Amino acid sequence: EGGAIVIDGKAVAKKIRDEITIEVSRMKESIGVIPGLAVILVGDRKDSATYVRNKKKACDSVGIKSFEVRLAEDSSEEEVLKSVSGFNDDPSVHGILVQLPLPSHMDEQNILNAVSIEKDVDGFHPLNIGRLAMRGREPLFVPCTPKGCIELLHRYNIEIKGKRAVVIGRSNIVGMPAALLLQREDATVSIIHSRTKNPEEITREADIIISAVGQPNMVRGSWIKPGAVLIDVGINPVEDPSAARGYRLVGDICYEEASKVASAITPVPGGVGPMTIAMLLSNTLTSAKRIHNFQ
Ligand code: NDP
Repeated sequence: EGGAIVIDGKAVAKKIRDEITIEVSRMKESIGVIPGLAVILVGDRKDSATYVRNKKKACDSVGIKSFEVRLAEDSSEEEVLKSVSGFNDDPSVHGILVQLPLPSHMDEQNILNAVSIEKDVDGFHPLNIGRLAMRGREPLFVPCTPKGCIELLHRYNIEIKGKRAVVIGRSNIVGMPAALLLQREDATVSIIHSRTKNPEEITREADIIISAVGQPNMVRGSWIKPGAVLIDVGINPVEDPSAARGYRLVGDICYEEASKVASAITPVPGGVGPMTIAMLLSNTLTSAKRIHNFQ
C-alpha cells in the first residue's frame, strides 16, 4: 500500500544547488574567478533547445557564467570542432558541453574526443570513461545522470556496498556509466539490455535497480524484490487527454505497482531529472576549482 519512501530528487537537487551557490560566491570573493560553462547546440531539435535553456537557467541561478554557441543543422563538423577548440583555449570557460544528439552527418566520436578532458563536464570523453572503468584510476568527471543516481542513494543513506544491483539499459550516457559507478561502489552488478532473456528473473534478485531504458512502465511490480530500492531514469511521454499538453511523463518503472513493493523509489518527474542538472553545475564548479587550484 504505497509503503515505499519517495526519493525526492527535486529537494536534493535544490539543496545541492544551494551548496554550489555558496561555493561559487566564495570562489569569486577569494580569487575573483567565476566558474563558466559553455554549451554548443547544433541544429534545431526542440527537446535539445529546451535542455540547453534549462541548463542556462540553472547556471544563472547559482552564479555560474554561461556561454552558448548555436550552429545551424547544416553546419560542418569543422565548425563544431572550431567552437570546441575556442572554448578549450578560453580561460573563462571551465566546462564544455556538446548537446547530443548531433546531426547525423557529423561524427559524434570525433567531436567528443576534441573536448579537453580538463573541461569535459559531461564526462563523455573516452579517457574519462576509460578511467571510470579501470581500477585505481580516477576520472576527472563522471557523467551527470548516473552520478545523480548514485548521489541520491548516498543522500538517502542507502548502502551500495555488497548489494546486488541491476542496471537496465547500457547506453554510453546513462546505463553503462551507471553500472561502472555501482561497481566502483562495491555492488555486484548485472546489466539488462534489449537482448536479455527473461529480464524479470534478473531484476527479482536486485537490491537496487537503476532503469534507463526509455520504455514506459516496462518494469512491473512483479519484477521487484520486496524492499528493493528503485532509481528510475526513464522519461517517457504517454498520451493523456486530461493533461494540458495532451501527454504526461512517466518512467520505465510502473510506479503504481512498484511503490507497493519497493522500500524506496524515485518519482518521474521529480526524481533523477533535477539531479542531472545539479551534477552538471557541480562538475563545472569542481572543474573551476581544479583549474585554479582553489580548495
Ligand atoms: P538509449 O535509447 O540510448 O538506451 C536505451 C537502453 O535500453 C539500450 O541499452 C537498450 O538496449 C535498452 N533497452 C531498450 N529496450 C529494452 C527492453 N525492452 N528491455 C531491456 N532493455 C532495453 O537511451 P538513454 O540511455 O539515452 O536514455 C534512457 C532513458 O532515460 C530515456 O527515457 C531518456 O529519456 C531518459 N534519460 C533521462 C535523463 C535524465 O536526466 N533524467 C538523462 C538521459 C536520459 P540495447 O543496448 O540492446 O539497444
